[in-house]
Amino acid sequence: YGPSYVRQIAPYVAGKPISEVAREFGLDEARIVKLASNENPLGMPESAKAALARAAAELGRYPDANAFELKAALAARYGVPAEWITLGNGSNDILEIAAHAFVEKGQSVVYSQYSFAVYALATQGLGARAIVVPAVNHGHDLDAMLAAIEADTRLVFIANPNNPTGTFIEGPALEAFLEKVPKGVAVVLDEAYTEYLAVDRRYDSIAWVRRYPNLVVSRTFSKAFGLAGLRVGFAIAQPELTDLLNRLRQPFNVNSMAQAAAIAALGDTAFLERTAELNAAGYHRLTEAFDKLGLEYVPSFGNFVLVRVGNDDGAGSRVNLALLKQGVIVRPVGNYGLPQWLRVTIGLPEENEAFIAALENSLAQA
Ligand code: PMP
Repeated sequence: YGPSYVRQIAPYVAGKPISEVAREFGLDEARIVKLASNENPLGMPESAKAALARAAAELGRYPDANAFELKAALAARYGVPAEWITLGNGSNDILEIAAHAFVEKGQSVVYSQYSFAVYALATQGLGARAIVVPAVNHGHDLDAMLAAIEADTRLVFIANPNNPTGTFIEGPALEAFLEKVPKGVAVVLDEAYTEYLAVDRRYDSIAWVRRYPNLVVSRTFSKAFGLAGLRVGFAIAQPELTDLLNRLRQPFNVNSMAQAAAIAALGDTAFLERTAELNAAGYHRLTEAFDKLGLEYVPSFGNFVLVRVGNDDGAGSRVNLALLKQGVIVRPVGNYGLPQWLRVTIGLPEENEAFIAALENSLAQA
């Protein structure tokens, strides 16, 4: 059944859930450490829990299809009109809606090698042509991406910071790129990890949205805001593109629990600060351990690190299995063409220690 371009899609590989690993390896769930999906190790903010309890009383009703209150809160926070916002069932939804809104079957989409897997899924699901530009130092090569744009290119995906590599493009380079992208080519700038950037790395992508009518900035509540299970993402773009996105968006794509929790989390700056501090300390600890073990890693600007665990193409799977047996779940990235590497999410201090100890064991066995 179905078109050949759908049959050719390689399914998305998500982090293994704790319950599955517990069953498969005969482990106690409480002992398992999951550092596989770039979730916030602090979990959900308390402010969001209270909002959820209130929203639960109204679950007999449909959600607000236009998410008036959440959009108003986002508009106030980011300084844009509510008409510039599109909500998604996670930012994955935004990425897919954008592909459908801007690209026809047979036209092309440009993205980087080693960039987030959903760009390929969204492109292939349309029967569009992917132009995958080779990475440089595991990150985006913006000059090559510009050069790769063809007459039928309608969309460019950029992740900054990128997942799974953690690489970062500095603001001025990105701005120079946006300046040169031809009219008629939309750019989705996926900033899922932007809240983790150190203050001196931040740039004002919302100001770029005002300047570039082809730019869509995509953000999520799944990472620093701690709401991955609720599935809320959003896009900010000028009205012409936002109107297209909203035509395709399913009317109730963000449920009422998610809307309520997102409003609470958005205002919880103390939680965001704690998250960023914990992440910076954890990054320091993990990379110190990698240095000590003589392991290469890609300097990361997100809440995860890509580390090379061996020099043969079996290394990632082998070390991953050894970690699983010790109750540590990380993410193999062979599907990204990185079979010698593993991606580990930065966890709580005790989770990082458990991972480091298990990694040392795994390497000794390997
Ligand atoms: N973009 C990037 C770069 C990501 O890493 C992720 C999460 N894996 C997403 C988007 C999607 O996250 P969500 O759908 O939970 O918002």
